Amino acid sequence: MPSPFAAERLPDGRRRYSRSAVVARRRLLAGIVVAGAGAAVGVGRWRDGGGSAVADAEEVAGTSALHSTSEAASPWVVVNKQHPIDPADYAPASLVTVGDKQVAGVVGPDLTALLAAATADGVGLTLTSGYRSLDYQRTVHEQAVARDGRAAAERVSARPGYSEHQTGLAVDFGSSARPECAVQDCYRLTPEARWLAAHAGDFGFLLRYTEQNSAVTGYAPESWHYRWVGRELLERMAERGVTTLEEFFGVSGGAEYA
Ligand SMILES: [Zn+2]
Repeated sequence: MPSPFAAERLPDGRRRYSRSAVVARRRLLAGIVVAGAGAAVGVGRWRDGGGSAVADAEEVAGTSALHSTSEAASPWVVVNKQHPIDPADYAPASLVTVGDKQVAGVVGPDLTALLAAATADGVGLTLTSGYRSLDYQRTVHEQAVARDGRAAAERVSARPGYSEHQTGLAVDFGSSARPECAVQDCYRLTPEARWLAAHAGDFGFLLRYTEQNSAVTGYAPESWHYRWVGRELLERMAERGVTTLEEFFGVSGGAEYA
C-alpha cells in the first residue's frame, strides 16, 4: 500500500495528491493520527507497510495538537530521500539564534534549555550546524561528493532540498571534549554524545539516524544529528516502540532518492 500521503510531483513543483492522500489528509486535519502499523524493513529501502491510515481514538488521546507530516513548516514534517522539502527553496518564517547557529523559532526554547542542562551536568555540548539554506546545503553536498565520492557522501550528506537542516528543526551537536569528532563516527564515543543519548528526548529531540534504523531512514548512523519533534510525539513513538518518523506516520523512506 502506498503512503497515505503519496503525492505526484507536478512540473511546477506542486504536488497532486491521490484520492487516498486527500482522504488521509482530511482525516489528519480532522484530528486523526496516521498509524504506520505493520511496517516492513526491506534490504536498503523501507516500504510502507499495510498499515491503516485511520487510527482509533486512543491514538489521538494525549496528543493535544496534531500536525501535518508534509508541510515544511510543520514540527512533524518528514523529510527524507523520498520526501523532499516542499517548496524546494523553503526557509522557516521565523529563525532564532542559539549559540552561534540558527534554528526554527519553535526549537529555540527547548534547545536553549537542553544546552543549559548539559552545562549544569558539566558536559560541554556545542552546536556545529543548525538551519541550512538550500544553497548552503548544495555547497555542503558538493564538497562531500568531491571529497568522498558520490556513494559514500550520500550515506551521510543529503542532496539539496532533501536535508532536514533546511527545516530549521535539525541540529548537529559537537563536543568540547573531542572537537575533532564533529560530524565523525567517533562522536558517539564522546561524553557529549552519551549525555545526548540519555537526555535529548527530555527536550523533544529525536536521534534521527541509528545503526538499527538506517534501512528505514536511508542514512548511515549519525550520533550527532538530532531532530526536534517535541516531547509529545517522542512519548507516542516510545509507546509504539518505533524510532523513526517514517514508521510512526507510515511514510516511505530508504536510501533511494525519489
Ligand atoms: Zn545533521
